[in-house]
Amino acid sequence: MNEETVLAAKRFNLIDAETIMDELCSQAAKDRWSYTRLLSEFLCTEQKLADARSSDVMLKMAGFPYKKTLADFDFNFQSSIREEIFTEFAEGGYIKVNQNIVLLGPPGTGKTHIAIALGIEAASRRMKVKFTTLNALVTNLKEAKLKNSYSQRLKVFVSPPLLIIDEVGFTPLSGEESAILFDVISARYEKGSIILTSNKSYSEWAEIFSGDSVIATAVLDRLLHHSQSFSLKGQSYRMREFKEQKGGNTK
Ligand code: ADP
Ligand code: MG
Repeated sequence: MNEETVLAAKRFNLIDAETIMDELCSQAAKDRWSYTRLLSEFLCTEQKLADARSSDVMLKMAGFPYKKTLADFDFNFQSSIREEIFTEFAEGGYIKVNQNIVLLGPPGTGKTHIAIALGIEAASRRMKVKFTTLNALVTNLKEAKLKNSYSQRLKVFVSPPLLIIDEVGFTPLSGEESAILFDVISARYEKGSIILTSNKSYSEWAEIFSGDSVIATAVLDRLLHHSQSFSLKGQSYRMREFKEQKGGNTK
């Protein structure tokens, strides 16, 4: 590519032009592609590479603690949820209509696994995702309050089309922390999706808000209005692995 072409490619953000042009041109000569075919192959390759880069950025920005995929999830072991439903969620339609997904169940039943897997699916489709535990979310926003940057920092949790809040209910929230969670949930109401995981059933939610049933109801009301809830049941997968290692009977 001559210098003028390199500059033109830069101007239109065709970042890979320089690397792919030579190869595509020699393939075009070898396989006798038409000019139209060559141009179309060039644009489609550019687009594919740009999409892959943008999914990588989304995956990095989401802050997943580790990688889990739907393919790694054993739906036979966790038979209280149906694989087809989650395969469809992977397409991200629920995010386009600002729907929430709530995953409830005891420890080790796969809530975080499913939440991360759906988050990865969304990020790989170039949707902006933010993963946080509830604890990290309130700590982060309490800090921002002290620095007078609360409304600015709130955007981190409000602007991505998908927010994953993991581990709701492990530790009860103080009044201030409850108000922070309410702010996040109400700011996202009908504007973005939330995937939330909790070890507490809805009837126990007042405990999360240190007995304040008014705020518990206000949060649940907004969270559940457009949502699908799933109760994961059964024994902990972690314990199963532990028992298997020890040669125990897991069935
Ligand atoms: P929870 O968030 O409900 O406490 P996790 O999602 O952290 O549970 O699951 C605990 C561990 O067991 C993780 O390593 C997860 O990948 C694995 N796991 C749980 N359920 C399944 C399953 N049905 N198939 C495969 N791995 C599972
Ligand atoms: Mg978990």
